[in-house]
Amino acid sequence: MSNTIKKIAVLTSGGDAPGMNAAIRSVVRTCAYHGIDCVGIYRGYQGMIEGDFKEMGPRTVNNIINKGGTILKSARSKDFQTSEGRKLAYKHLTEAGISALIVIGGDGSFTGAQVFSKEFNFPVMGIPGTIDNDIFGTSHTLGYDTALNTVIECIDKIRDTASSHNRLFFIEVMGRDAGHIALNAGIGSGAEEILIPEEDLGLDRLLESLQKSKASGKSSSIVVVAEGDKMGKNVFELKDYIEEHLPEYDIRVSVLGHMQRGGAPSCFDRVLASRLGVKAVESILEGKSNFMVGISKDEVTLTPLEQAIKGHYPIDMELLRVSDIMST
Ligand code: ATP
Repeated sequence: MSNTIKKIAVLTSGGDAPGMNAAIRSVVRTCAYHGIDCVGIYRGYQGMIEGDFKEMGPRTVNNIINKGGTILKSARSKDFQTSEGRKLAYKHLTEAGISALIVIGGDGSFTGAQVFSKEFNFPVMGIPGTIDNDIFGTSHTLGYDTALNTVIECIDKIRDTASSHNRLFFIEVMGRDAGHIALNAGIGSGAEEILIPEEDLGLDRLLESLQKSKASGKSSSIVVVAEGDKMGKNVFELKDYIEEHLPEYDIRVSVLGHMQRGGAPSCFDRVLASRLGVKAVESILEGKSNFMVGISKDEVTLTPLEQAIKGHYPIDMELLRVSDIMST
């Protein structure tokens, strides 16, 4: 292990996700385990620019493994996108004796980390924290599993009312660029159709599928729509379109929204966060920089930040076929 790193800072940035606290806890305790000081930076890069730091020891992260959100708060910082902002951030880090940075966030946060690292030759490591699961180099991001469980719990409840009133529900879930939540929660909740950004089903096929479903004797249905679906209509416009063409359907819309980001992290996310935090700290102590820690086939891995930023974890097209078969 390196003896040049004496103090590591950790921050959370971008959209919050369940499991971020468990990752902070892991970073803090791994530092303590190796006799390294740890500093928490509040409000992401904005706090770095403002020097909003707090020393963190193993007892400062008691009772947070089970909490959603992030105790360090998150922010999107415009100032960090300027070279003056980053200079100020570097000044505060060096004044505080910090010699490496762990960023918990999404691809935007990793881009910021990479720019900063290149500019000041500063060691950085990324931990993927976003419910969308859209980052290349890891099969699971922190918060994704919890979000899936939240979504299916909601859809189960909606199904009760849908079947009592013989209604068709369009349920919008998060996922601007990636359909992981929609696809997996859709299959897990028994959706009739799943609309995702990666595949344009087309309005005709949607109509055909709903017609077939009605004819087969189904009296209620759930259609899960990712917010970034490329059908060219938002979920309310879709409702209007189907109502116009299939007047026999009584249709409602439910947008799940920010509730998908909250709640206690699942056991999977807590274990993942603990593993990734350990790997992030130990990789820095081994002299590595500019990597994202992730998981692949249950092994903890390192992916160059550059690749993690550019790529996307692809959806499993076989799941679309499974979904088609399940809606028979
Ligand atoms: P989510 O996936 O939840 O949106 P994210 O990490 O992608 O999370 P962003 O808002 O895209 O969230 O990025 C977070 C922050 O990273 C930005 O507010 C900004 O401070 C920093 N950042 C992003 N891109 C750059 C860049 N090119 N240069 C410097 N900083 C950047």
